[in-house]
Amino acid sequence: MTTTEAFATNFDLTEEQQQIQQAAREFVKDHVAPRAQELDEKAEFPVDNYKQMAELGFLGLSIPEEAGGSGFDTLSFILVVEELSKACGSTGLGYAAHISLGVTPVYLFGTDEQKQKYVPQLCRGVDDDGNLTLGCFGLTEPGAGSDAGGTKTTAERKSDHWLVNGRKAWITNPHYAKTCIFTAKTNQNPKDGKGITAFIAELGTPGFKVEAKEDKLGMRSSDTAQLVFEDMKLPLDAVAGGEPQVDVGFNKFMKTLAGGRISIGALALGIAEGAYQKALEYARQRKQFNKPIGTFQGVSFMLADMAMEISAARHLVYHAARLRDAGRDFALAGSMAKLYASEVAMKTCTNAIQVLGGVGYTREYDVERMYRDAKLCEIGEGTSEVQRLVISRQILGDLRNV
Ligand SMILES: Cc1cc2nc3c(=O)[nH]c(=O)nc-3n(C[C@H](O)[C@H](O)[C@H](O)COP(=O)(O)OP(=O)(O)OC[C@H]3O[C@@H](n4cnc5c(N)ncnc54)[C@H](O)[C@@H]3O)c2cc1C
Repeated sequence: MTTTEAFATNFDLTEEQQQIQQAAREFVKDHVAPRAQELDEKAEFPVDNYKQMAELGFLGLSIPEEAGGSGFDTLSFILVVEELSKACGSTGLGYAAHISLGVTPVYLFGTDEQKQKYVPQLCRGVDDDGNLTLGCFGLTEPGAGSDAGGTKTTAERKSDHWLVNGRKAWITNPHYAKTCIFTAKTNQNPKDGKGITAFIAELGTPGFKVEAKEDKLGMRSSDTAQLVFEDMKLPLDAVAGGEPQVDVGFNKFMKTLAGGRISIGALALGIAEGAYQKALEYARQRKQFNKPIGTFQGVSFMLADMAMEISAARHLVYHAARLRDAGRDFALAGSMAKLYASEVAMKTCTNAIQVLGGVGYTREYDVERMYRDAKLCEIGEGTSEVQRLVISRQILGDLRNV
């Protein structure tokens, strides 16, 4: 057992959670870790790894069995994201986005018909022709990032359909997706709320185009692209949650993000732990001045801080997941977990490169990739600044009328 695995055993995981964690560890050891560097270099999406995750039941892990999922809890899902991300941040990101953003909002907010139509297929993850059927989530636009309510995409209600025009940016998984749940403005002059509605569209709908994959700093083997809607016609029942949700769907997206933040926290935690393990091994075996570099206080203190901060991040991430599983309010805990774990991942990766010295700065050693991957955690699903806004608003309360 490694030192950090020993931290994890103190979390009183249930037998079921330990089994899923072990299954994820074995899958990562055999299929994810050996290819992570090569996939990053080629910016290649690991279709076959996702197919194997589908076989393992991972692609519907935290969705109840009666809805077509595998029936595990949020913490089990978080454990899988963490294990994947220790070896490959890109796989952790694509997987986390599929469950948190692609499947969960359809399951939580869809009508019964929408749930029956989409959720089992999204949870299976592969169709009869062997194509991946992941889910994706379209909130961000070129002009609406942190200000997600600034959506410019429009959906106009016609007599027998919705006519959608606009563009979404930075969307995860669209080239391998079956459905996209996205936001569009439905009320041009909203008196209250944002006048924004959530829709579910199938990939392949005429007028729905996925542009070429983005060329990114990190998370290079994840799939990120813009979506273009050009006179896309959707049936009237494509509104997520049905007609009563027209003009108020924005709130659903905000709730989805609150859950998604826990999984980005787990992604960051996994990357931090992966980098820490590499630094620890190196500090034991690399000798300078005839001694392992781990004997130098300058190096050992960096490792001590990493171990402590990773442990603290794990407490926050698991706590947020447990609050969600208990049906309690997890929004504040999720933001704190995401913010803290992201910053720990960035700091740990920076210092892991420092511990490895020159070789850490090369593409031959994984810590350089982990460092590039970690940066995404401070941006996606609400930047660190936005998390601080969310947290400060919650702790201060609404001061606007004071
Ligand atoms: C790899 C990747 C995958 C992604 N996947 C998805 C996805 O699947 N679906 C999706 O909808 N989106 C996705 N995103 C988009 C992501 O959520 C946005 O990039 C993020 O919310 C920030 O928006 P922005 O990039 O437009 O930056 P901006 O909002 O333009 O922010 C630029 C800078 O200004 C700061 N800033 C903005 N407003 C404030 C403020 N009020 N106070 C203080 N600082 C502020 C920000 O913190 C940031 O530092 C993804 C992004 C990436 C990079």
